[in-house]
This record gives sequence, C-alpha cells and structure tokens, in this order.
Amino acid sequence: MKNDSVFVYSSDLLGYKFSETHPFNQLRVQLAYELLRDSGCLEDEQIIKPRQATDEEIMLIHDPGYVEAVKQAGKGQLNREIALNYGLGTEDTPIFPNMHEASSWIVGATLTAVDHVMEGKSKHALSLSGGLHHGFRGKASGFCIYNDSSIAIEYMKRKYKARVLYVDTDAHHGDGVQWAFYDDPDVCTLSIHETGRYLFPGTGSIHEKGAGKGYGFSFNVPVDAFTEDESFLECYEKSLWEVAEFFKPDVIITQNGVDAHYYDPLTHLSVTMKTYTEIPRIAKKVAEKYCGGRWIATGGGGYDIWRVVPRAWSYLWCVMNDQAPSGQIAENWLKRWTSEAKHPLPPTWEDESGIYKPIPRKEEITSKNRATLEKCLYSIKKSS
Ligand SMILES: [Zn+2]
Repeated sequence: MKNDSVFVYSSDLLGYKFSETHPFNQLRVQLAYELLRDSGCLEDEQIIKPRQATDEEIMLIHDPGYVEAVKQAGKGQLNREIALNYGLGTEDTPIFPNMHEASSWIVGATLTAVDHVMEGKSKHALSLSGGLHHGFRGKASGFCIYNDSSIAIEYMKRKYKARVLYVDTDAHHGDGVQWAFYDDPDVCTLSIHETGRYLFPGTGSIHEKGAGKGYGFSFNVPVDAFTEDESFLECYEKSLWEVAEFFKPDVIITQNGVDAHYYDPLTHLSVTMKTYTEIPRIAKKVAEKYCGGRWIATGGGGYDIWRVVPRAWSYLWCVMNDQAPSGQIAENWLKRWTSEAKHPLPPTWEDESGIYKPIPRKEEITSKNRATLEKCLYSIKKSS
C-alpha cells in the first residue's frame, strides 16, 4: 500500500517565515517530517520534491496587482501605505524578504500533490506546508499570502475538469477558499470551525451558503468555544458524509489545521489528539467511497508547534498509509528537540487523559453544536 500516498517535502518549503517571534512557524513542518522519519513511517520513495508555482498559476486566483505588490514587498520596494492596502506589513502578515518566492514554493507543493493524485500516480498526497486558507484574491490575511488551496482547486477545475470538495477543519473559518468559490457550483466547501463570535476571521456562519449558481454549495458548522472531541467529531463526520453524498465530488482536498487542540494558544476549543486521529480516517473513507480514493491533504494552522503539530500531522500521514502509531514517541526525535522545545514534549502519540479540567458547560455546548449541525444538515438536504 506504500505507493498509495506521497509526501511533498523539501527544505525550500521552510522559507515562509515572518519573524523569529511570529506564531506561524514552519519549523513545525520539519518537526513532523523528522518525527515520521525517526518513527520509520516515511520512506525515501514516498517523498516527492515540490516545484515553485508559476506566476500564471498564482494568478488563477490572485489579482496581478497583488502578486506584483507581494514581489515588490519581498524586495523591500513597496510603499507602506500601498502595502497595507494589500494586507501586507500588518501585525498578522508582516513583510519578509523574498516572500513571493517562499509563498510560490508552498503553492507549487500543493500543485505537485494535486498532479500526482489527478494523474493517478498515487491515491493520496500530503502537502503539509500548504493550507493557507485566509489568502484572498487581492489581499493577504491571517498569516496567509497566497491561497494554495484555492489555486489548487481552480487548477484542478481547469486542467482536470474536476468537481472539488474542500473540507476545512482548522479552528478558524476557511474564509479565503469559501469566498473564492462562493458562486461556483462545481466547488463545494465545508468548514467546521470555532464560531466567529470571538475568533478571527469572524465569518463562517451557518447562513453563508453560497450565492447565485453557487447557492447551496457552501456549508459551515461553527462550533462553540470549549468544544471537545466527541462533539467536534460528530459535527465533522455527519456533515462530511452528508455533503459528499449530495455533491459526489471527483476529488477531496482537506485543510488539516490542528489549532482546535486544547493546547493551541490562539483558539478556544478543547479537542485532543483523538480528533486528529479520526479526522483523516473519515476523510479517507469518504474519498474511497466517492472519489476512487483521490484525496489531497494540506496542513494549515497549528501554533503549539511542540506538543501538538508534529504528532497530529504525522498521524495524518500515517492514516493515509494505513498505519496507526501508538505508545512511545521515537526517542531520537525527543532527544533532538527536548532542549529547544518551549514545553515538555509529550512522550506518547496519544494525549494523556486529563490534560484539561472538565468543561463545566459540556452538555450545553454539545447540544448547541448539535442544533447547529442539524441546521447545516437541513441546508445540505435542501441542496440535494
Ligand atoms: Zn487556524
């Protein structure tokens, strides 16, 4: 089964770096890669190198003026006022040298994954540096410059005439991808995320269902703060099966942000590694049933780069390959990173029980989420 999946990776993908202190830290991609190698879960022949995306490919989604601005900003040649109009040079998305080149590697990595799957060379492909779902056509937002997922979807539509289902389980709403295809009935988007009431970007309500011909092809399940594994997974699993049955996609692309974890410093959800072992299992089953297995997965958010991201993203790869690591984390990996880590590294693949105190409003949160899910399921049924 090993040739069923490819892992897109090279050190070129690590150049997407805002600063030493910015929460978005691509060291996490390297940490996941090394954990997999140290665990014996990733073989040389499963790794493929990315390419850089061309300007033409980036402009499948992004405005030419914006791409030019990103290029100039990366050379230190963009006026501050103009930069801010493009969402560049903000606290969230600061300017850094060669930001265009670094971003085009990430887009190219996701396109490499897409071609591998769509040309039938493998069933699944993983592009962990991708999943930059907040990037807009003409504006950077929320740590995202170019939206590799949106570009990949448009690329699949044009090159392979594919109907694409995009599934986003990042704690933040997948706004950039949703708005890019809001009026498009050949692309269906589903985002399960923490409600925008107290969290960036504030959108992703149940009422955002698409527009024009795309009405009824955009779905959202915003869950309450402090949502735990069971409820998050219920919302994800039920909505995903229902959407897949309605839309019958040719291919699925998932955004696997892992910032809904209890440890994540930027969000308020309370899921654990359990959620990150189940999310890919269900995605894989859905892809098998509806798409001949065709499944491209990207990374996304994830700001506890020591305790959460390496394990969660490694597990995602393992599920693609029908592996289920458990028990102790590879000793080599722990030794290499323990002194650098900001928190004690968890010694096992699973989270220990009781990493957080019982959530007092658990029942109320669960029933509220269930009501939101029911509304979403009703919308999907109406679209069918
Ligand atoms: Zn996020």
